[in-house]
Amino acid sequence: MLVACTDTPKQVLETVQTEKPTLLDENHAPIRIGFSMDTLLEERWLKDRDLFKEAVEALGAEVEIVAASGDDALQISQAEALIHSGIDLLVIVPHNAEASAAIVHKAHLSGIQVIAYDRLVKNADLDLYVSFDNEQVGEMQAKAITALVPKGNYAFIGGAITDNNAHLLKQGVFKVLRPYIERGDINIVYDQWTEDWTPVNARANMEEALRTTNMQIDAVIAANDATAGGVIQALAAKGLAGKVPVAGQDADLAGVQRIVVGTQTMTVYKPIQMLTKEAAELAVAMAKGKKVTAEQKVNNGKIEVPSVLLTPIAVNEQNLDRTVISDGFHSSEDVYKAI
Ligand code: BGC
Repeated sequence: MLVACTDTPKQVLETVQTEKPTLLDENHAPIRIGFSMDTLLEERWLKDRDLFKEAVEALGAEVEIVAASGDDALQISQAEALIHSGIDLLVIVPHNAEASAAIVHKAHLSGIQVIAYDRLVKNADLDLYVSFDNEQVGEMQAKAITALVPKGNYAFIGGAITDNNAHLLKQGVFKVLRPYIERGDINIVYDQWTEDWTPVNARANMEEALRTTNMQIDAVIAANDATAGGVIQALAAKGLAGKVPVAGQDADLAGVQRIVVGTQTMTVYKPIQMLTKEAAELAVAMAKGKKVTAEQKVNNGKIEVPSVLLTPIAVNEQNLDRTVISDGFHSSEDVYKAI
């Protein structure tokens, strides 16, 4: 059990450390949080990394960050190294929802609690899950696209099958599409996962979708902006970019630039700073030995995981300025330099 240094009278701390008080664990060492990331490939993860570090340090704790380049075995060995280095708590963005259960188990054997960040770890005694409402992300995409294309042939270009978020998103999408499908207004002519969410795999999926339907596709829901980018390349090669509505997720700079030029219809913006702040506060509190409670619960196949789920925001060209840009997520200069 860790003892939080803030239990020491605050004044004592402040006389010792005038600038930023350092939190100490029971061994009087600084509180250290391990952050095990899957990948830094998509633009968002660089923001997650930097903002999480900033948020943890602002709380007076330290953070050790590793990224596994989408390699399950590497993520496990990196996490083991963090555990053995004496971190006080582990925060993990799992590459693989199932394989990462081993990490939770190993951390617990060393008395270290684990928070799943953005992506759920399945079938493990996870201590906390902090994310956005990923089912809502899918609902927002499908609502935006059905408003434009209430009837027609739809292609769904999913995320990585190994990522629980890809499943939640798909549930959200189909929750909205189901009545349209049942009425016979919408036909799902293509539905495929995209290995590791990469643009190149998404492009190959979209090429296949166009080929097998003889280009009879009226709308595309892509699981994120990386996959939407691949989809739009495939559409462009057939002269269809800007003619077929496409939804994405993440508000990547390239994604919002495509919204401005009209090749992508919408994205779902998830203010990363809110997520990092929430996760950092909870991680540091737990590392200090505080008991954290959360009203929401998400079943991970083993337990009801206490969860904090933030609300995403649907973004199109109408509200781009008052969301992504006014929040400082991207500068207006960067967004509009595309045109
Ligand atoms: C995240 C998305 C991200 C995707 C690919 C998902 O788990 O929720 O924001 O685009 O992973 O990294």
